[in-house]
Formats: sequence, C-alpha cells, structure tokens
Amino acid sequence: MARLNLIADVHASLPALEAVLDELPRARTLHLGDVVGYNPHPGEVIELLRERRIPSVMGNHDMAVVTGDTSWFNPVAARAIEWTREQLGEEELSYLASLPLEMRTEEVYAVHGSPRRKLEEYVYPDYPEEVLEGFAGLAMRPVIALGHLHIPFVRRTGDTLVLNPGSVGQPRDGCAKASFATIDLETLEVEVVRVEYDIDRVARDILRAGLPAILAQRLYAGY
Ligand code: ZN
Repeated sequence: MARLNLIADVHASLPALEAVLDELPRARTLHLGDVVGYNPHPGEVIELLRERRIPSVMGNHDMAVVTGDTSWFNPVAARAIEWTREQLGEEELSYLASLPLEMRTEEVYAVHGSPRRKLEEYVYPDYPEEVLEGFAGLAMRPVIALGHLHIPFVRRTGDTLVLNPGSVGQPRDGCAKASFATIDLETLEVEVVRVEYDIDRVARDILRAGLPAILAQRLYAGY
C-alpha cells in the first residue's frame, strides 16, 4: 500500500521529533519546513532528519537563520533565531541554506507557506474554495502539503487534497501533543496523529539556553 507521512515545523525540538519518528508508519516521510527556531536542539534535529533521510523544504525560520534577517519576526522569535545562529556550525548552516522552497513528488506538492507565497503565507482551514482551487492550479498534484500554521487540517477541493499535518515541535491548536499526518496515496485518506513527548525536557533546555521563558510555557498549553 502506497503511504506517505507528513511532518512539519519540528522547530528544533528533539524530544518531539523522536516521539513522532517512533510512531510514524513505515513509509516515505517529508518535512514541510521550519527545521529550526523557537526550541533548543537545532543541531540534533538537523542531524536526525539527515540520518533518517527525511527531506525538508525551507521554512521562514530556516531562511532567517541562514540570512540573519529577523525583521519580520517578533522579538521572542528573533531572539531564538539569533541564538540558533550562534549554535550551528558552517556545515549545518549550509544544510539549511540548501533546502528547496518547494518540492514535488509524483503525488505531492510540498511547501512551507503556500504555492503563491512559499515562505510566509498562512493558509487557514477556512480559506475560500477559489483560493484553494488557485493553489491546485499552481501545484498540479493530487496532494498539496503545507506547514507554517502549526494547526492540522484537511480540506478537499475538486480532486485535490489540501492539508497541514500540524506542528511537531510547537503545536498551536490547544493540544500540546506533537502532530503528524499519514496519507493513503491510493484513497487519499488522511489520518492526523497526536503523540505525547517530554515537554519538561524541552522546557528545561529552553531555560538553560537562556531562551525566553514564554517559549517553554506555550508548549504546555499548545499555542
Ligand atoms: Zn513554524
């Protein structure tokens, strides 16, 4: 059975990524951007994604870490970007710089934001049908996989499935558990799965790193 797993917005949370990898069905897995930012394990997360051969598109936080341009970020997110830049070596930075803005497989178009604004557009679950149809025209694949919002949703427009698997490292839908999605590529049936992980460990490492305490607090509330 052809199956595909989607993960997004790991955001440098090693415990959340490990917990999700333990639960993923055996299948190809894509990451929809924001490997780093917010959380305290950027090097470990880059290493684990590469070791598991999970390809990723570029996220806006990945781009900011590469360029150092945080002008679009709030002060808390910007502080985490600066901290991340100090932690990573040249090789890790060039990995982030190499991430493509979009990815196409036979069935899937993958992007962090949207097919028209690849890094920065938040696509919400209640987006108008016409806009999603426009995306389908740009993507030209049966599945459009998006990140960035940190809230899982599944929409269908015509024959196209538009979905966001939610965030691994910083869920924002009020559920603190890490999120991923798995798709049966024959039926296009989607399952969104939530996984508990060791938030205490992430929170402790956030505080130890001197990152803003709000980044730890928000993980418990899932926002
Ligand atoms: Zn993100």
